[in-house]
Amino acid sequence: MTECSILAHGGALVDLIADPERAADLTTASRDWPSWDLTPRQLCDVELLLNGGYSPLRGFMGRRDYESTCGRMRLADGTLWPIPITLDVAADRAERLERGAVLALRDPEGVMLAALHVEDIWQPDREAEAEAVYGTSCRSHPGVARLLGEAQPFCVGGTLEGLQRPLHYDFRSLRLTPRALRAESARLGWRRTAAVQTSQPLHRAELESTWRAAREAEAGLLIHPPVGLSSAGDVAHYNRIRAYTSVLQHYPEGTAKLALLPLAPRLAGAREALWRAIVAKNYGCTHLLAGRDHADLGVDGEGRPFCEPAAPHDLLLAHQGELGVGIVPWRPMVYLEDRRAYMLEDEVPAGARPVTLPAAELRRLLARGTPIPRWFTFDDVGQALQQTHPPRRRQGFTVFFTGLPSSGKSTIANVLRVKLLEMGGRGVTLLDGDLVRKHLSSELGFSREHRDLNIRRIAFVASEITRHGGVAICAPIAPYDRTRKDARAMIEPHGGFVLVCVSTPVDICETRDRKGLYAKARAGIVREFTGVSDPYEVPDDAELALDTTKLSPEEAAEAIIGYLQKEGYLGGEEWGHGHLAAVPSP
Ligand code: ADP
Repeated sequence: MTECSILAHGGALVDLIADPERAADLTTASRDWPSWDLTPRQLCDVELLLNGGYSPLRGFMGRRDYESTCGRMRLADGTLWPIPITLDVAADRAERLERGAVLALRDPEGVMLAALHVEDIWQPDREAEAEAVYGTSCRSHPGVARLLGEAQPFCVGGTLEGLQRPLHYDFRSLRLTPRALRAESARLGWRRTAAVQTSQPLHRAELESTWRAAREAEAGLLIHPPVGLSSAGDVAHYNRIRAYTSVLQHYPEGTAKLALLPLAPRLAGAREALWRAIVAKNYGCTHLLAGRDHADLGVDGEGRPFCEPAAPHDLLLAHQGELGVGIVPWRPMVYLEDRRAYMLEDEVPAGARPVTLPAAELRRLLARGTPIPRWFTFDDVGQALQQTHPPRRRQGFTVFFTGLPSSGKSTIANVLRVKLLEMGGRGVTLLDGDLVRKHLSSELGFSREHRDLNIRRIAFVASEITRHGGVAICAPIAPYDRTRKDARAMIEPHGGFVLVCVSTPVDICETRDRKGLYAKARAGIVREFTGVSDPYEVPDDAELALDTTKLSPEEAAEAIIGYLQKEGYLGGEEWGHGHLAAVPSP
């Protein structure tokens, strides 16, 4: 068996998992330690610290390493290292810690993964960090926005002793540690391994170009997508990995393998590229495929790119010798229809007209549910993409009514439900205001706090229904703008969100007074009554405003259906065509 030919960064592969005896002692002692619940990003860092992916680091950086990393891309001892690996904690946690303490680092379920022996606690200058690592402190840079907007104000540095690696139940056979991956390369007889750490799907062009690049380096190809921040509860994550698994079948036998990299990207341009090369080295990769990655970070206020396209590649090349990782150019390929073959983009002969499928066009095809051309990708990869980005007619959506009591929300919602069910295609759930208050929110009153909590519960249920392709119709009063916007933010990432303001004037609502509540409110018997003794904030972001003094309930429901059709949520194969009556003019 061939031994893997590359040493870990710094000389030796770090493994911070304590032996069982020591782990038992740590568990016993941890009863008296303070704890820190790790964020998803911190979990990724802990995993790569414990398994040696971050060799030679043995814990979260202290202040000297941090400042040296920011200032000169090196640890205090001179080892090349471009990205700060710090544990950021809240002020109230930092203030109750001192050097020499031990901090139990826990996963979201409270399981202790590691003990951090605290050596340093400090408040970093995040603006200076942004300037050093990202070359800017402009918040429109996506990495800077996260650093300045989300990172906690204090850092805690110190060595780690690991009890167990973060738990994953998805794709376990693909979650190989650096040690396991090195052993796997040896088993396959690979003297050289070239990593490609892409976050994008691999299509036919990428298969051709990665295979060619690895062959030129005389290396086996490791497809090593970073999955640190993909959520295990997210369908897109599974489709993405399935797409990689499918592509793998199309490489010649024994030339490629797939493993998942538990890394949380920093979006740090050239420094990111160098950092990734170090991680690849620790996983036993002798080569790294470097294309146009890491530079696409947007532009500053003057329209200049935050990262020059060539900067990541140049920085890699500048440190190639010191790093000992070969940088293999990953050159884009294009399809020549007349030859039915792929070619390197820069070798296309004059006069030949390559066909391409730009990202915007691919999005359009997906939005329409049109099959992806076979010259572009493999059927199974296309299907995985279609599942992740279904056209609107297959996405779920929420119709969220808001309006004064007795404005007509429930009445219209019921008509809408019946009409949607009659059309067929998706399950429909009605979360009516009164019914929700009877069941989901039975203990809540009508204070601002309770009203908000009620809406958040409704929005949570609606977001789950939407995520799974169903229709949620919500009909609460939802008087506050902020809360409605929060509901939108919870639901919109999963499908459609249509805010319908039932804008019937209060005097009309009062004359209807279906439940006699306006009368009670005027008499002071019912307090905190929206429209009488409690505020109603009129939305400025409603997709539709319907005044029921001018529309019958049926006309109002048809107006909503007309909107849903126009936006593409209804119609197409599942929903009957030509069902609808003309939408009345308001
Ligand atoms: P909300 O759910 O907004 O409190 P409801 O739908 O329970 O309001 O009550 C509205 C009342 O107004 C019902 O009695 C309904 O029959 C009556 N109504 C009269 N005209 C209309 C209309 N065009 N649209 C909706 N409801 C109407």
